[in-house]
Amino acid sequence: MTRTAPVVVIGGGQSGLAAGYHLRRLGVDFVILDAQTTPGGAWQHVWDSLRLFSPAAYSSLPGRLMPPQNGATYPDAQHVVEYLADYEKRYELPVERPVRVLGVHRDGRLLRVETDSGTWQAAAVISAAGTWWRPFLPATAGRGDFGGRQLHTVDHRRPRDVAGRRVIVVGGGNSGAQIAADLAHDTELTWVTRRPPRFLPDDINGRALFDVATARRRALDEGRTDTGGVASLGDIVAVPPVREARDRGLLRSTPMFTRLTPTGAEWADGTRAEADAIIWCTGFRPTLSHLAPLRLRDCHGRIAVEGTRAVGEPRLHLLGYGDWTGPASATLIGVGRPAREAARDIAASLG
Ligand code: FAD
Repeated sequence: MTRTAPVVVIGGGQSGLAAGYHLRRLGVDFVILDAQTTPGGAWQHVWDSLRLFSPAAYSSLPGRLMPPQNGATYPDAQHVVEYLADYEKRYELPVERPVRVLGVHRDGRLLRVETDSGTWQAAAVISAAGTWWRPFLPATAGRGDFGGRQLHTVDHRRPRDVAGRRVIVVGGGNSGAQIAADLAHDTELTWVTRRPPRFLPDDINGRALFDVATARRRALDEGRTDTGGVASLGDIVAVPPVREARDRGLLRSTPMFTRLTPTGAEWADGTRAEADAIIWCTGFRPTLSHLAPLRLRDCHGRIAVEGTRAVGEPRLHLLGYGDWTGPASATLIGVGRPAREAARDIAASLG
């Protein structure tokens, strides 16, 4: 059976919901197709101790402030899941789940969206499928030889899964620091980073980061010198569990090893560390495979956009994948603005 909608939004995480909010305000009909069985996008799958790097009010989608979480300045992921579930209910966003989009095809004047439960035709598509679903592991000598467990950020849930084990955590970003802090008490931890970890000053949280990102966007818009934005400040937000582990001296990092061995890791000077498990906190790539039939990806695996609109397919918009689809587009507070631009652009093109 083929159904039609003026706009199909792919993904029912925060980005898809923000798009839905603005489409609804503009009076454009749409459907959101989401592969998950329940609301919350990737937030449903992160580790138990994760803390947002911003207070609740600075983690809000358009139209509705995230309420504070009792007793916590930095909310946990369950709080975000509840907020997103409430958001889609409050605005009566038409989310169909579980529906996995298999491919988006050109079909005359329309786009055809093939899913695992039928076909949709639409005048425009917004792809907001996130990055969690494409974990990235760097090429590393000997990786195939290592006999222990190899996990990624997406596999880590709680310390007791690896308690008492020798664990190497790889990665000096926020995930690496938070997971290393999570494991510091219960495992024999080696935290490996490519360069010395750069902690943001303790008084800087996501609110200040957002202000810095906004100042950068303003400078660029006005043709002034690039301020360097958030990257000029450091990488790791000192959320309470990270701060505590760091202050207790439990978060000492080691430079990157040169190769893995069957039983652990080896450094250039011959130093070795035995390990039962390695957790790769080495990032993600955008989930774009459902757009493959449109043949839009460049040699870096990205799709060129102007604003949120794909250069090679003007009926397609991308949202939430990272700064290349709008400044701070991959954050709760930052996705509102590009979502509004995408919705306005689509409303204008639909007339
Ligand atoms: P997702 O949450 O991944 O939602 C995408 C949805 O699309 C999912 O439900 C998925 O199942 C669905 N989907 C995917 N492919 C298909 C398909 N083919 N068909 C149908 N549906 C599909 N941001 C902040 O603002 N504050 C933070 O503190 C913060 N911390 C973070 C910590 C971590 C560890 C990570 C990884 C990210 C963090 N972010 C944070 C960034 C960002 O807010 C999250 O990554 C967020 O989940 C992105 O939302 P999204 O809607 O773009 O993608």
